[in-house]
Amino acid sequence: MPIDIYLNYRQAQTREWLQNSNQTQVIQEACRKIRDSLHGKCSRRKTYCVTPGERKNKWAKQVLQQAAAVARRHLDQGARPKSDLQQHFQNTWQQQWEEYRQKAPLDRHTPAQQDGDLLHHWKLHEGASKGESSLMVQMRTENIGLQAFLAQRKVPGIRPECDCREAIQMPKHVILACPNTSDSRMEWLQRAGTVDYRVLTSMKKGLHMLAQRMMGLGLLQQFNIAREMVIPLTVL
Ligand SMILES: [Zn+2]
Repeated sequence: MPIDIYLNYRQAQTREWLQNSNQTQVIQEACRKIRDSLHGKCSRRKTYCVTPGERKNKWAKQVLQQAAAVARRHLDQGARPKSDLQQHFQNTWQQQWEEYRQKAPLDRHTPAQQDGDLLHHWKLHEGASKGESSLMVQMRTENIGLQAFLAQRKVPGIRPECDCREAIQMPKHVILACPNTSDSRMEWLQRAGTVDYRVLTSMKKGLHMLAQRMMGLGLLQQFNIAREMVIPLTVL
């Protein structure tokens, strides 16, 4: 889940809990009494500014109402039980994902953009270490520290071409075609059971193998420690 949606979810969850808390009601009542007692003293004008906390409460109330309405509509769809808020923010994420996918032309979709089902995205990561999981996201989105992406981000001194000079250095080239990374490629592909890159990036087994292969190649030095933690080098 994107960090902004996740933080909104936790904010709404906290506000819901606070609104239902007895202590909150005691504090609100005390504030009301103080406010009332101040009015009329020293010829004070009645001024009342909405505090940031009240604005957040108002936002949370709207979110909770929307979430409850959506939950009522989907009550009989047989989905696994979720809180109204979980379902609401998951729907928000799915909606944003669809909008993001539609912005890019179909023929330029990354492996991640080819996949419209966010639940499938989650399932791909089951059983993966944090390092593998991170690399799996980077390979599927192609936002990965290979030369094509670094050049696109205008990192000084980086050209998009692979060191082999045969192609742009993208994950697919490195895994399937680069002569500099061909050691044990055939054996690895036999174990993966396919040479179709789209299948490799969309199936759990293939994606886990891809992440381990990419770590093992050593092109991404930031994953060196993760590689030592999760895979014996002899496996590669
Ligand atoms: Zn190459």
